[in-house]
Amino acid sequence: MRKMLCLVAAAFCTPWIIGCAGLHAGRAATPAKSVFTLAKEGQAACSIVVAANPTPAARLAAMELQFHVLKITGAELPIRNDSETVAGPRILVGESGATRAMGYKAADFPPQEYLIAFRPDTVILIGRDWEDTETNRNELGRPMSCGETLAATRHKLDYWKTVGMPERSTGEMELPGIYDDQATCYAAYHFMEKFCGVRWYGATEPSIIIPPRKTLTVNGADIRRSPALKYRDSLIGGDWPFMQGQWGPVTRQETWLLWRRLRLGGEKWAGNHTFNQKTFESTFNDPEYQAQGPGKGKQLCYTNPKLVEQVAQMARDYFDGRKATPEGWKAVGDYFAIIPDDNANFCICDQCKALIASGRGMSTGQFSSGTISNYFFSFVNAVAREVRKTHPDKYIATLAYWNYAYPPSDFEMEPNVSMAPCLHTCMYAIHKEMRENDMKLYHEWLQKTRAPLYLWNYYHHPMEPALIKKFYCFPNIMPHSSVQSARMFIRDGVRGIFICGQQDMLESYIITRIWDDPDQDVDAMIDEFFRLYFGAAAKPMKKFYLELENIATNPKNYPKPYYKKNAIDWKNVAWTTLGTEPRMRQLGALMDQAQKLAQTEQEKKRVGLWNDAIWKWMVEGRAAYLARHQGKPVAK
Ligand SMILES: [Zn+2]
Repeated sequence: MRKMLCLVAAAFCTPWIIGCAGLHAGRAATPAKSVFTLAKEGQAACSIVVAANPTPAARLAAMELQFHVLKITGAELPIRNDSETVAGPRILVGESGATRAMGYKAADFPPQEYLIAFRPDTVILIGRDWEDTETNRNELGRPMSCGETLAATRHKLDYWKTVGMPERSTGEMELPGIYDDQATCYAAYHFMEKFCGVRWYGATEPSIIIPPRKTLTVNGADIRRSPALKYRDSLIGGDWPFMQGQWGPVTRQETWLLWRRLRLGGEKWAGNHTFNQKTFESTFNDPEYQAQGPGKGKQLCYTNPKLVEQVAQMARDYFDGRKATPEGWKAVGDYFAIIPDDNANFCICDQCKALIASGRGMSTGQFSSGTISNYFFSFVNAVAREVRKTHPDKYIATLAYWNYAYPPSDFEMEPNVSMAPCLHTCMYAIHKEMRENDMKLYHEWLQKTRAPLYLWNYYHHPMEPALIKKFYCFPNIMPHSSVQSARMFIRDGVRGIFICGQQDMLESYIITRIWDDPDQDVDAMIDEFFRLYFGAAAKPMKKFYLELENIATNPKNYPKPYYKKNAIDWKNVAWTTLGTEPRMRQLGALMDQAQKLAQTEQEKKRVGLWNDAIWKWMVEGRAAYLARHQGKPVAK
């Protein structure tokens, strides 16, 4: 796109675990009855039980549980299936004969809901999972991320090799697809976080916390819940400089596991430019509805009835499972996306011209306006009306973006049009006009829309322009602002969010956890992170991070001329009014202090990774700026 482009382990309340915070409590249904022992003095004290033919999610959940308990205690919990006789305490993972005997069937759970239950000598981890059947494998869909098909989201990896124990390899396995039901995994991951103290702050070995202890017991009340946000698309890959450096070298396989561990994906939704060069060539090549004027080959005539008919038929064929949409055209689950290509070369035929003219008064002086809303949404509505006649329970998905960001002024959207406003979330702390403009259009859609509402959240500034134009931006760290926005969206009933861009490792982690449970305490999560991650160096590292946030999110640090009505001059603000000489001295001193205080090899490694990823970037950025200005700052 153009611009988008403590409970726990009562017997082992070690200091860090007593303070464990920031994790959702869930709904307590049953009081704690007994202590369940997973491992005792490094020996297995229970078995993991799955169905004889487990779902992909149950298979992964069982292996993840086995691996993490092994890392924590040194004990290997045997994985058995329910056709065997299993003596002694059991952890039941996914639906099996054993769970059915206790009254728990996966089909009784709504999508994404899961249960962690404690019964005498038994822990149950269960939810609804995608079943590996021919029908399910034949489901059509072109999802938002991971490639062109749903099959592409079912990554294959050698599990034991990926987690650093290649000697245990049992060959390649298929993971549950990013957008497939996998609530048994959610139960297992929640269980490991809350009751075993595991934290997946990143995809690589140094970015994961697995607290060792020889005996592992758990004791809790039942938890039955589902993630708050239903579509969670922040498939962080460590491919932007800060996260990449903070994580250290990462493999694709490690990131695939991280996405499951952070419970990303969820409901099937997609929305991106579906009219594009690829689909113009493959599908929309009828001369009758090509845009007239300079837009020929770049846009279509969106008032042409033949085009409406063709797109409506594509949607019907997709929803009926008869025909996949062409490559480059997003449609997945109950959503068929319609979004124009990313240029303003619209058709100049009389009908198109008249509708475009009707939006003249809807400019805002900001990137997001409504000048094309009457025009493009007339087309979306025309298709939606047709599709509703045959498929009343399905949705046409579209973005509220750029010059069609505002609702149309002349009509309402059809009830089966699902909107996704594109919002500049990364600017909210510092840019009043952009925030106010976004909030205006967001609230208008919130009020008007009758179908589920999704969001496209920008986190690409300032890093994307910095990478493209090759300059060093000031680190845009803003977890509190991000959490504030995410909470508001979830409480307003937004169903899903796609993130465009990538924050640093901690902020990205926090966002995904708030998506799961917006009631978590962000300050407690930050405290816990620095304590667990940097140990003896926690204090200066936390101060360093929060100081970066203070600087980056203070609007006073963005004076004119760097502050423009609809943008920020990221390049020139970075080392003049943000990374000033006194601030750099203070931040450098904190980093020095952290390096001196780090004690264990792991602490030293983590401080070193953060130093190289963020502090070095800043030092180089300021040096490059001074060199550009012959050693003299252009402003104070
Ligand atoms: Zn036209």
